[in-house]
Amino acid sequence: MTSSHFLHLSEYDRHEHVVEHRDERSGLHTVIALHNTSRGPALGGCRMWPYTGRLEAIRDVLRLSRGMTYKSALAGLELGGGKAVIIGCPRRDKTPDLLRAMGRFVDTLKGQYIIGPDSGSSAADMCVIAEETPWVSGIDASAKHSGDPSPSTAYGTLIGIQAAVRHRFGHEDLTGLKVAIQGVGNVGFHLAQLLAERGVELVVADVSDRNIDRLLESTDATVVDAERIYDQAVDVFSPCAMGSAINPSTIDRISAPIIAGAANNQLATPKEGHRLHVRNTLYVPDYAINAGGIVDIAYRQRGGSDAEILEHIQSIAKTLIDIFQRSDMQDRPTFLVADDLAEEHFHWGSTPAALEHVPGADNRRVHPPTSISIADR
Ligand code: NAD
Repeated sequence: MTSSHFLHLSEYDRHEHVVEHRDERSGLHTVIALHNTSRGPALGGCRMWPYTGRLEAIRDVLRLSRGMTYKSALAGLELGGGKAVIIGCPRRDKTPDLLRAMGRFVDTLKGQYIIGPDSGSSAADMCVIAEETPWVSGIDASAKHSGDPSPSTAYGTLIGIQAAVRHRFGHEDLTGLKVAIQGVGNVGFHLAQLLAERGVELVVADVSDRNIDRLLESTDATVVDAERIYDQAVDVFSPCAMGSAINPSTIDRISAPIIAGAANNQLATPKEGHRLHVRNTLYVPDYAINAGGIVDIAYRQRGGSDAEILEHIQSIAKTLIDIFQRSDMQDRPTFLVADDLAEEHFHWGSTPAALEHVPGADNRRVHPPTSISIADR
């Protein structure tokens, strides 16, 4: 595979660095992408997933890391955008050795990238990674907070659903509304509870029986097969699983007037975003509604209080209302309006100091297009 394969990926989008690393001893195979650091160090979670191949993982990390730049900029945080993926099954392949190898690799980036939890990696995993590097977020030493940002992400998503309901239906009361949640993992679980407390009727799906059972212990919900979640007659469809939930084969099955969930990269391509706009489905841009977790992490990193975090997360409503109104006025899809707003808050062209080679390891890195250096395999 040559470097040109990566440069021509549509997801490349002016990334500052993309670094790939294998540690044969622990089985670690990771890619870390730094999209834009003009607002600060690139902070983003580490996703562990059994990708079908290396290219799928690289595409995923590029999209996720770009999303972090936009998310932090739109949320007004002094952070850049970055993300890591580990290729592997978290249940089968994640070991303390692998996590420590990840920590050593993150450390080589000297703070340009700050790792955190994401799908497939937990706050507890971050504690293991922190044995090797200080550049870790999502860990909180206080007994009060586990470091897991998911409850804050879920709360922000609730705020976003309320804003969308107000914009579309003219009221904020969720009582009696029907919401379909795809994925009741870390975020979906908390979101389901918040919605149930507000009298929402829930339909849920998850490929993990364990996560469905955990939800049903505390919350009433109708469970449907994972494939049937798109076909539900609901007011809000809430993607809280993996990316690309809205794609050519699902978009016509989603009849909900509002799509508002926590998953990153919900639109498989921009085409779906345009389609939703044309048919008058209110799509709540993913990185705008799911910013609660990064807000939580950013404040806890610098010792912010719970009240400050809450206030900042509640401001997601104001941002979204602004996006919805501009979208109506400009007849422009919400996802593009969100991009416009975020781009006002960062600039292109930051180049972090060159990364150092890690002796004895298989390191490849992608610099900005002027200085590509991924080795052929
Ligand atoms: P998670 O892995 O804990 O939960 C995802 C859930 O989706 C799991 O229960 C999984 O079994 C389920 N799932 C996977 N594929 C599915 C499918 N096809 N149909 C139904 N269910 C499926 O992850 P999470 O931390 O809850 O994150 C969920 C999404 O939100 C991800 O896209 C993540 O990037 C995004 N996000 C998370 C946070 C956070 O604070 N955790 C912050 C911002 C964005």
